Amino acid sequence: MERIYNFSAGPAMLPQEVLEQARDELLNWHGCGMSVMEMTHRGKDFSAIIAQAEADLRELLNVPANYKVLFLQGGATMQFAQIPLNLLAGRSADYLVTGAWSKKAFKEANKVGTARLVASTESSGFTRLPSAAELEYGPDAAYLHLCTNETVHGVEIHDPAAFRTSVPIIADMSSHILSRPVDISQYGLIYGGAQKNVGPAGLTLVIVREDLLGRAPANLPTMLDYSIQAENGSMLNTPPTYSIYVAGLVFQWLKKQGGLAAMEQTNIAKAKLLYQTIDASSLYHNPVDPACRSRMNVPFTLNKPELDESFIAEAKKQGIVSIKGHKMVGGMRASIYNAMPLQGVQALVAFMQDFEQKNA
Ligand code: PMP
Repeated sequence: MERIYNFSAGPAMLPQEVLEQARDELLNWHGCGMSVMEMTHRGKDFSAIIAQAEADLRELLNVPANYKVLFLQGGATMQFAQIPLNLLAGRSADYLVTGAWSKKAFKEANKVGTARLVASTESSGFTRLPSAAELEYGPDAAYLHLCTNETVHGVEIHDPAAFRTSVPIIADMSSHILSRPVDISQYGLIYGGAQKNVGPAGLTLVIVREDLLGRAPANLPTMLDYSIQAENGSMLNTPPTYSIYVAGLVFQWLKKQGGLAAMEQTNIAKAKLLYQTIDASSLYHNPVDPACRSRMNVPFTLNKPELDESFIAEAKKQGIVSIKGHKMVGGMRASIYNAMPLQGVQALVAFMQDFEQKNA
């Protein structure tokens, strides 16, 4: 059977070369006679795997030396609590709410501490970013939290400088990390679940500036303390070894593609093709302000919702799957992460045009 084009928001497609390499190395990694899944995380083989993964990630993102790279668990959702638990230190924090995910982060932070709303675009259906005039920063925030790519609503912050303040910026980059170059030095901490653009589920990336470590209260459970995780090289307990290994293969694949600047060009081309198709049609609609449309997650509706089911069924026959939109937004959503080739987006737009013609 041929591989299909999987437009899932996550877990999502992985590069075929990575899957092939993982398959080839499955039973006997580099002649050691066992799978990476079976080896101790304390041995020299796994130590080499995690060290190489970190080195490649640092190279790809150009991570400055005064930042720690942590390979954690619990997903980005755990970070919604772990961030305030480590960084509030009795103060409050500012939260920008631009979609479903930053709204969840805001709510979770308020469970463990005090989070203030800087601005919310919920009343506009999360289809735009707030203007400078709408931003109300708190007087003594420990940090500003934002989500640079809203996976459900398809809203991406292309110019983070618009939200720069004097306090550290904490960014949820789950659904666009590694899709474009990022100036890490503009952030106090960035994080993301791996299962979209990085590798298999079960791994959470956190990149944190060293001066933000050591602010956690003494009674914070050990597993949740960034400083202790950093001191232990993310191996306080058994890490998600296989996910780290596959993520490492993805990092090497990204380097072979020419790094993040090259990925960005491909991602721009893919997104442009899809948005142009949507905008040129009278059947499909994307509600997001073009200035902040996501290059990774493209939600769109059919102006005849009674066609939704047949759109999904017909798409499947063409090898196009997981295109159904999130229930909050309805319609469709095409997630076009790094591993989705341009040919996949070309196949999708050809199908969309054909479907529109047949249903005119
Ligand atoms: N933040 C964003 C932007 C996401 O897209 C997701 C997952 N869809 C999450 C957080 C939650 O991630 P996880 O499932 O890894 O906890």
